[in-house]
Amino acid sequence: MTLELRTQTLGQDIFARLDRGGPLLFSRNWWDDKLMGLTMGNDALKVQLFRFVDTLPYLTEPSEVGRHLREYLNEARTQLPWWVRSGIGWIPETGLASRLLAKVAKGNAETMARKFIAGSNVGEAIAAVQAMREKQLAFTMDLLGEATITEAEADHVQKQYFDLLKGLPPIINASPEIPSIDRDDIGPIPRVNVSVKLSALFSQFDPIDPEGTSKVVRGRLRPILALARKNGAFVNFDMEQYAFKDTTLRIFREILTEPEFRDWPHVGIAIQAYLKNTETDLQQLLDWAKNERKCPIWIRLVKGAYWDYETVIAAQNGWPVPVFTEKWQSDDNFETCTTFLMQNHTWLRPAFGSHNIRSIAHALAIAEQLKVPKPNFEFQMLYGMADPIKDVLKSMGMRVRIYTPYGQLLPGMAYLVRRLLENTSNDSFLKQGFSDGVSESVLLQAPSAAGPSSFVPRHSTNENPMIAPHPNGVLTKVEFQNEPLSDFSRESNRDAMVQALRSVRSQLGRTFPVVIGNAPVASAEFVESFNPSKSVELIGRTGKATIEQAKLAVASCQAAFETWQEVPIAERAAYLRKVASVMRHRRFELAAWIVLETGKPWRESDADVAEAIDFCDYYAAEALKMWGGHGMPVPWEENHYFYEARGVAVIIAPWNFPLAILCGMAAAAVVTGNTVILKPAEQAGVVGAKLMECFQQAGLPAGVVNFVPGVGEDIGPVLVNHPDVALIAFTGSLKVALQINEQASHTPGGQNFVKKVIAEMGGKNAVIVDGDADLDEAVRGVVDSAFGYGGQKCSAGSRAIVVAGIYDLFLNRVIEATKSLTVSAAESPGCSLGPVIDAESRDRIRKFVELGKTQAKLVYQADLGPLADEGYFVGPTIFADVPETATVAQEEIFGPVLSVIQAKDLDDALRIANGTKYALTGGIFSRSPENIAKVKRKFRVGNLYVNRKCTGALVHRQPFGGFKLSGIGSKAGGPDYLLQFVVPRTITENTLRRGFAPESGPSGE
Ligand SMILES: Cc1cc2nc3c(=O)[nH]c(=O)nc-3n(C[C@H](O)[C@H](O)[C@H](O)COP(=O)(O)OP(=O)(O)OC[C@H]3O[C@@H](n4cnc5c(N)ncnc54)[C@H](O)[C@@H]3O)c2cc1C
Repeated sequence: MTLELRTQTLGQDIFARLDRGGPLLFSRNWWDDKLMGLTMGNDALKVQLFRFVDTLPYLTEPSEVGRHLREYLNEARTQLPWWVRSGIGWIPETGLASRLLAKVAKGNAETMARKFIAGSNVGEAIAAVQAMREKQLAFTMDLLGEATITEAEADHVQKQYFDLLKGLPPIINASPEIPSIDRDDIGPIPRVNVSVKLSALFSQFDPIDPEGTSKVVRGRLRPILALARKNGAFVNFDMEQYAFKDTTLRIFREILTEPEFRDWPHVGIAIQAYLKNTETDLQQLLDWAKNERKCPIWIRLVKGAYWDYETVIAAQNGWPVPVFTEKWQSDDNFETCTTFLMQNHTWLRPAFGSHNIRSIAHALAIAEQLKVPKPNFEFQMLYGMADPIKDVLKSMGMRVRIYTPYGQLLPGMAYLVRRLLENTSNDSFLKQGFSDGVSESVLLQAPSAAGPSSFVPRHSTNENPMIAPHPNGVLTKVEFQNEPLSDFSRESNRDAMVQALRSVRSQLGRTFPVVIGNAPVASAEFVESFNPSKSVELIGRTGKATIEQAKLAVASCQAAFETWQEVPIAERAAYLRKVASVMRHRRFELAAWIVLETGKPWRESDADVAEAIDFCDYYAAEALKMWGGHGMPVPWEENHYFYEARGVAVIIAPWNFPLAILCGMAAAAVVTGNTVILKPAEQAGVVGAKLMECFQQAGLPAGVVNFVPGVGEDIGPVLVNHPDVALIAFTGSLKVALQINEQASHTPGGQNFVKKVIAEMGGKNAVIVDGDADLDEAVRGVVDSAFGYGGQKCSAGSRAIVVAGIYDLFLNRVIEATKSLTVSAAESPGCSLGPVIDAESRDRIRKFVELGKTQAKLVYQADLGPLADEGYFVGPTIFADVPETATVAQEEIFGPVLSVIQAKDLDDALRIANGTKYALTGGIFSRSPENIAKVKRKFRVGNLYVNRKCTGALVHRQPFGGFKLSGIGSKAGGPDYLLQFVVPRTITENTLRRGFAPESGPSGE
């Protein structure tokens, strides 16, 4: 009999044996519930109800339960049947009825959660597994919990594993042996089986630093494994999202090669068949187990639980999708991997985690074909699901292990919602089989027979298919797509960054001249920049431009302007695309310069380069659109509306986005036909020089871009006041911006125009934390917003405004999460917080902290230890109970200082949030649709972020810039930005001569 035929027969046999009267998918009670039945057929309602369930545990007041249910149902209102719609208005939010509703809703959610979660403590979990053993089922325990975002939480998780491994074995090992589940053909296998998620053991688990992550995780894992081994338990490593896969595999291999665990066969790891590279991972594990470790391991083969997440993350970042995009492909790969495991079962002992009868039948068929003894492999299924299938397999003499989560129901809701979403998805085998009534023959057909015809491959590459270059290099049609950030979970990118840092380090200390008219100009004096992480390390010198040189540069610009403004727009745009392409080729090298010169961690330095590339590509595309022509068609009248460059543009940039901002402002000026003087910040002159190199590499004509580094106080006023300078684009402090604005407003004799000033200034940005916020997300979001690049971004969230009910809980977690950050030199891959830019900044921030101590409660300040002497470090600092008018709540500090302010309610939070002179960015963490809508209307900032950090704007996706005292001008990376660099003109020509219309007139007249 062929394998396929045998698979079909076994599948039909399983179907025939199923107890159709029993709970198939979930419990009968739950399944029969009318609302849940409706949910399966209504995606919008499903999403809203599951969101409600997820929020429910956080709602402490009965009135909040009613309000949230109403708000969520309202979100899906148009897609609800009339009887649900008409009921929304009746949901009680006050009085006895609301208390009753809250009780019923929570009771139902808890009942539902208990279907999938075996218990809320070790005692309940033990009772549950005893019951399973009585039914001759094996088990593996999974510890549920909130995301680990603090080291204290990681310690707590470790302790919970200890408790589990101490509590379970004495009881379970004392129970009578059940040979069918406690033995394989080699001998006894542990009765106690525990699953671990590695990311729960380290708050800073980050694939950008596999070595550092592995070290800390192994430190916490070692005693867990030692105790498991001592107490005769088995440990399985769960597999989480794709980004963590390589680090998880690395830790698995590293720790199990240690002498203490090398010969321990009772360990396993989950491998996901929905990933495209599963087979390679399996082959590597086989080689390692067989040839290096020389001791077998178990493999739990699953399809994978993060499909939606992986596809969304890949799409958002422009990364290749790591998972198959058609369900049949995952099924097919599951079968390929099944065959591989069965062929190598003595080294990779197979455990199949699936509820899919086709997948299971195929595994049984291949086992028969290869004569793999039954006890040498097993099936695993989730607690609370597909019980009849478990019974059938058991009756066929198979070992069935139940993945049994336990833990508090509140954090368990996230697990519950994941299970519900997975099993109500249209592609789910269980849904198709037991809810949608798909026929058995269709369910049992080979995966490859199910799909290839409908399959359209979906993949992304670094080449942008939307941008079509003209055969002779001139762009015709341009669509913009963001440059993907480097995915540092990939080894190739990490290696490239290490290599670039090494190479850049070998070039430190060089001198970069002033460049005027494409020629280097000698300097007598130089500006030096040093590595903020290691203040004795000289990065390089840039020529200190003199006043005469600044004037020469203006003259060079002026001369070049005459011809540059006449260059066709397509060519000017093509130049920018070339600059982008040069930067793309020098991607890691430029990022390495940024890391070393400005103390920016890897990811953010990489994002700086990506943003610079985006600015070039985006402004090229926008300029082509602008120059596309506008006109009002009127008979015998030609109207032409068009743009013209302003002239000489001075670009004065800050050090915090040393490449992106300098490049962005310059690119906008250049593509619109202006000529440019680049004046980088003194602290980041070398990165400025690197940008100049990129412009030169792109072959821009002489004088279009001139590089004039120097001391702002010396040459700044000369450039700003120069009568031939038409435009100043500045990003920096409020004080300097106002000075420039004032100086530029003068129109000395001979200057026949008013200068244009574009200025982006500061912010005192707030993140509001609503009473029902998801704390895992809010804490992470606030910490990232406040301490990303040491708070040295104008978008940084330096105020957290927290609604009263959640204040203490939030504050404690934010403090713990901040304590857990890794403060280190920026070049270390695991750095979450590097130094501040220079001694002056450090001292200024310290003064703010001292002042803050007199105005608010200092609740955390990191002790830096020896780092304090190595570079310009300031420990992350948190003030609590900050009065809204305190200096630390009003002034931009530009450092790692967070002020936490308590608000009475959301309206109060909004009032406080709007109560500064700035209006740049803001954020809200809330799970109330109506509160979110209110904040969108009333939180008046340039960039508002809902349920995410308030930094990290992307060109085109989130055009960036504020108002009030945060900026004059339009948003960088947005559709109106280029308008500031041009003057619009209109030409109207009357084409009618003495009432006589030529024969071939316009519009067919
Ligand atoms: C004991 C046990 C342990 C588990 N441990 C882990 C673990 O450590 N890590 C983990 O990630 N998961 C784990 N899972 C979850 C597991 O991945 C899912 O339960 C499983 O994918 C459901 O598969 P199925 O064969 O039962 O159902 P099926 O309905 O046959 O398959 C559903 C699966 O197909 C895949 N899929 C759905 N749509 C598509 C599509 N359009 N294109 C491609 N693929 C698609 C997804 O993986 C989805 O989960 C575990 C499951 C069990 C039973």
